[in-house]
Amino acid sequence: MEKIQMVDLKGQYQRIKTEIDQAIQQVIDQAAFINGAAVQEFNTALSSYHQGAYVQSCGNGTDALQIALMALDLEPGSEIITPAFTYFATVEVVLLLGLKPVFVDVDPHTFNLDPALIEAAITPKTKAIVPVHLFGQCADMEPILAIAKKYDLKVIEDNAQSIGGSITYTDGSTQQAGLMGDISCLSFFPSKNLGCYGDGGAVVIKDEALYKRIKAIANHGQFQKYRHEMTGINSRLDTIQAAILSVKLQHLPQYNQARQAVAKAYDDGFKQNPNIHTPFKAPGTVHVYHQYTLTLAGHIDRDQLKTALADKGIPSMVYYPIPCHQQKALTSKHPQQQSFPVAEQLSRTVLSLPIHTEMQAGQIAYIVEQVNQLTQ
Ligand SMILES: *Cc1c(COP(=O)(O)O)cnc(C)c1O
Repeated sequence: MEKIQMVDLKGQYQRIKTEIDQAIQQVIDQAAFINGAAVQEFNTALSSYHQGAYVQSCGNGTDALQIALMALDLEPGSEIITPAFTYFATVEVVLLLGLKPVFVDVDPHTFNLDPALIEAAITPKTKAIVPVHLFGQCADMEPILAIAKKYDLKVIEDNAQSIGGSITYTDGSTQQAGLMGDISCLSFFPSKNLGCYGDGGAVVIKDEALYKRIKAIANHGQFQKYRHEMTGINSRLDTIQAAILSVKLQHLPQYNQARQAVAKAYDDGFKQNPNIHTPFKAPGTVHVYHQYTLTLAGHIDRDQLKTALADKGIPSMVYYPIPCHQQKALTSKHPQQQSFPVAEQLSRTVLSLPIHTEMQAGQIAYIVEQVNQLTQ
């Protein structure tokens, strides 16, 4: 059995080496390293993937979130609702722009923003909600969008982890991750479901005027060259990364299917184990398993389990060990933080197992066996 890894980017590359090498070589041959043809080609392909929505690619997923928030042109101190349990980048950009993150607790099963708790967090200063589609599963967007409509709030989807996921609304319609809110943000960090070989990100926008604004913000606030109409930033998708992403986007459906097959094998393998809860899949959702995250029963010592697994050659990760509201970046300035019991509980009990496109049946069986043995 090959060494087990959290992700196997090398193995994935080997299978598409010819296509990737050709794409990279072409960029080098053309020597159009900044905004080369491959960038526009990828934007177009990503737009098609999003039913023709506008796409502005950029330097990384954090920039995508920052650009999206900047486009809303909010007064300093405006309040942005975010989940208490997410990767900190979602919150960091809010702070960076002089806005105020207002946390809402998450659902203990889906790990996503709990719509039932949002209204209580809304004040006259609230301007936007940033739901995160965590670990590959869409947030419960239908009630979130209804609340946004009622209070006239913008919705920015943090879709860094769930490209290819979807959810079903009560009218039976299937809704694609990234196309439900006003703006959505993607990260192409190498380990993401669609990852490049460095940094990359994109903003997906349905409204044309908003798209034009976003395009200008990502390009020093210019609508036209050397006319800076507002303060923007410099955030570009590298041409080589764009060429790589165009190749990989074609494989994304298979990649997501491969992840789903691993998740299914884990689900089956852990079914009889009362001490671990496998990821809950909300009815009608297509989960793309960016992570396969267990929640451990209270009596299981997570650190001990993690070490024992490592001793057996099985890596595991804690996403995320500290909820956002308890991060020093916030508590050092505002020590009095509200408590978010579900986020706090999850940060103590979650454990993510290896899941990627190259996992072998033998590796999965071995992990299932070891996890079951160590959690008896
Ligand atoms: C990865 C990630 C980001 C940031 O993306 P980068 O490309 O690393 O800047 C933001 N939000 C979430 C939920 C993420 O997983």
